[in-house]
Amino acid sequence: MAADLLTAEALASGYGPVPVLHGVDLQVPAGTITAVIGANGAGKTTLLRTLSGMLRPSAGRILFDGQDLRGTPVEQLVRRGVAHVPEGRGVIGELTVAENLRLGALWRRDRRDAARALDEVYQLFEPLARRRRHLGHQLSGGERQMLALGRALVARPRLLLLDEPSLGLAPRVVAQTMALLRRLRDDTGLTVLLVEQNVRSALAVADQGIVMSLGRVVLAAPAERLRDDADLRHAYLGF
Ligand code: ATP
Repeated sequence: MAADLLTAEALASGYGPVPVLHGVDLQVPAGTITAVIGANGAGKTTLLRTLSGMLRPSAGRILFDGQDLRGTPVEQLVRRGVAHVPEGRGVIGELTVAENLRLGALWRRDRRDAARALDEVYQLFEPLARRRRHLGHQLSGGERQMLALGRALVARPRLLLLDEPSLGLAPRVVAQTMALLRRLRDDTGLTVLLVEQNVRSALAVADQGIVMSLGRVVLAAPAERLRDDADLRHAYLGF
């Protein structure tokens, strides 16, 4: 197994006085896809927000490539290669597709490579190339998803934190998104932490599954085991 790109140790976090994560431990090997699974309110979104620097942990450590990320401003996390595609996706409706994508390149110092990355995104997502002058709010759900992912990819992340990418999308678009993640992992070594309600799709593409309950990780196992072991599935996933 590859070295871990991301590690969380005893991570605690929440909203003001409301604790949500109560000591999360996890390990994400470089170049793999990890699916984070769990009931509504288990703390999956809060975990991604804490890992991406949107929320400050109240205790514990986050190690990225061996370095402690605690207290690192979001801008620097982006520079180091952490990209977050939040739930609801954060596409700005009043900006064009091209402007939304350029936001992803805002922190890039290497302007030439930023332009190259932008071209690659247009090749990857052909509908975005056709609609580059359309406003964000004119796009379909699937196109918004592409735009949010594209914006994250323009930053050339090493770690992609992806919250509910399949929400509201047609099954065909979900399948395309999952196939794309797999291709990015295989071709570029991208590491992905994927929060999904659609457990079957997530486990189909993932290398590792992490089950959360009540703000803790209750199981971390190879995705293959979660797919194939009926007892484990019954116990932790309820199907
Ligand atoms: P879901 O699939 O419903 O998004 P989740 O596993 O992602 O579930 P979180 O969204 O992380 O769970 O929510 C965990 C807990 O934190 C819930 O009890 C929720 O009510 C609370 N919570 C989430 N966002 C906020 C917020 N902005 N302010 C206060 N509490 C919040």
